[in-house]
Amino acid sequence: ADGYHRAVKENRNLYNMLQELRGNIQVFCRVRPAFVAGDKGSIDYMGNNGTLILLDQLKSQNVRKAFQFNKVFGPNATQEEVYKETESLIRSVMDGYNVCIFAYGQTGSGKTYSMCGPEIGSAKDIGINSKALNDLFQISCIREDIKYEIHVQMVEIYNEQIRDLLSEEASTKKYPLMHIIRNCSSNGGLSLPDATMHHVQSTSDVMNLMKAGEKNRAFSCTAMNNRSSRSHSVLTIHVCGRDVLGNTLQSCLHLVDLAGSERVDKSEVTGDRLKEAQHINKSLSCLGDVIAALAQKSSYIPYRNSKLTQLLQNSLGGHAKMLMLAHVSPEAESYGETISTLKFAQRVSTVELGAAQVNKESSEIRDLREQVDNLKKELASRE
Ligand code: ADP
Ligand code: MG
Repeated sequence: ADGYHRAVKENRNLYNMLQELRGNIQVFCRVRPAFVAGDKGSIDYMGNNGTLILLDQLKSQNVRKAFQFNKVFGPNATQEEVYKETESLIRSVMDGYNVCIFAYGQTGSGKTYSMCGPEIGSAKDIGINSKALNDLFQISCIREDIKYEIHVQMVEIYNEQIRDLLSEEASTKKYPLMHIIRNCSSNGGLSLPDATMHHVQSTSDVMNLMKAGEKNRAFSCTAMNNRSSRSHSVLTIHVCGRDVLGNTLQSCLHLVDLAGSERVDKSEVTGDRLKEAQHINKSLSCLGDVIAALAQKSSYIPYRNSKLTQLLQNSLGGHAKMLMLAHVSPEAESYGETISTLKFAQRVSTVELGAAQVNKESSEIRDLREQVDNLKKELASRE
């Protein structure tokens, strides 16, 4: 049993080392399949080394732009493949790291598909949310040295106001507005102490809550038809662990489905739509500023400029780990939005374009991966 625990621990340490090597900020890009068969689209080439080349078909066949990310997923990539690259990050939550995963991109580019699958709780093509929860609950069952408790909150940020999607009142359209506690370390690490907190014991518990939350979100669609693409939804999984000696660890995983990043034509929108668009622009650019400042290890991080970055402050920077999943639509008509998504994602990315750096890192990661695989095999043979 001693050897077993040692192997489990080493396996975990290797996961963490793997993560350290990749850096605390990772940016992946995912290209959705084209809706129309045969649509040649604007994405010319997707290398598996993290390069994506964009082709401007409207202008000239020769205008190509290259972008570099930690990972690029083409239209044929499965949910499983995407999750495999996310797994170690999510598992580190159980070791006490705060983790944020953002789905960024224009409406229709596949953000919700990556996070939830074709629909919440669907059995096929399940998204990162369900897979992550399956993993977290599984780890909490396996580990005998730590007792875990898992709680969930779900809020949306709309026009710079935070609404609790899981409160009883939410279904009656009366959304209690939530206030962020800035210095939340004195508050059990909770930045939204008033938002409803549910104790959960299985992935399906969480899926049921998410369905209720989404339904509550839809209730507020009165004036605007596609409210869900105009607000950010934040699902937070709070993990609390206690070992036999009474030491505790506390961490959280934020799964964020961002508002659509498309720019609206300023000359065409007025009133509520204009206000929405301005709030979305502001909060997405603030998020970009914060991540870019973190990536550049800048001494000043502008968290205070939006509700989203205030809410996630404890989970952005420091020892926290972050993944930006930038989504693009392949259609030629989306070229303008695609390029702005890629530019945003490139700006927040720490990927260095020097090939030597990339190769060095990947060979180290490969070695670690092998060690992890060997340990996994060893573990499996003991079980
Ligand atoms: P967003 O949340 O960015 O607005 P959605 O996730 O709703 O976009 O995706 C738009 C449509 O495309 C949905 O019908 C979704 O099921 C489909 N879709 C998105 N990404 C994929 C994918 N990788 N494979 C298959 N279908 C996808
Ligand atoms: Mg969506």
